[in-house]
Amino acid sequence: MNKNKAVFLDRDGTIVVHEPYLSSPDQLKLLPNAAEGIRLFKESGYLVIVITNQSGIARGFFDEERLTLIHKKLMSMLKDEGVEIDDIYYCPHYTEGVVEEYKLDCDCRKPKPKMLLNAAKQHNIDLTQSLMIGDSEVDMQAGKNAGCTSVLIRNGCLDDSNSNSISGTDYVVKDLLEAARLFVR
Ligand SMILES: [Mg+2]
Ligand SMILES: [Zn+2]
Repeated sequence: MNKNKAVFLDRDGTIVVHEPYLSSPDQLKLLPNAAEGIRLFKESGYLVIVITNQSGIARGFFDEERLTLIHKKLMSMLKDEGVEIDDIYYCPHYTEGVVEEYKLDCDCRKPKPKMLLNAAKQHNIDLTQSLMIGDSEVDMQAGKNAGCTSVLIRNGCLDDSNSNSISGTDYVVKDLLEAARLFVR
């Protein structure tokens, strides 16, 4: 059976504007070119899967029910732009959290690769043909730890000298559209 290729996307700072511990669907704002980049990836046969650390749950800022609402809204905003994503994986854990059931040193929090490995199993993905795209070092390292190519989105929070020193980065781009144009042919 042929395996799928996938693009794994960080959420905050990659698809939507980074709001620290975004806790309401109303706070979601798509980044410019994000939907267009996702469209190009989808059109050339990539699965598009979101991989996001959401320690705000362990920290008690919001619960899983709320996160589900946020992700429903995200899907519908993307649908309004004519694109669909295939799945969303999140890690609710944090070792210093305050909510007992999520306060642990888990296997899934990026830079650990567990969310990507689970997605690969569930969606029959060839990780060596896949990309991890995000705006932070943990994204790059999670990608490397899973055996993917890592693509850094250089956004307002990082200057050029910073982005050069982020380890595990294979490519640096300004947004998802530029990333798609690099890999889609
Ligand atoms: Mg991010
Ligand atoms: Zn976790």
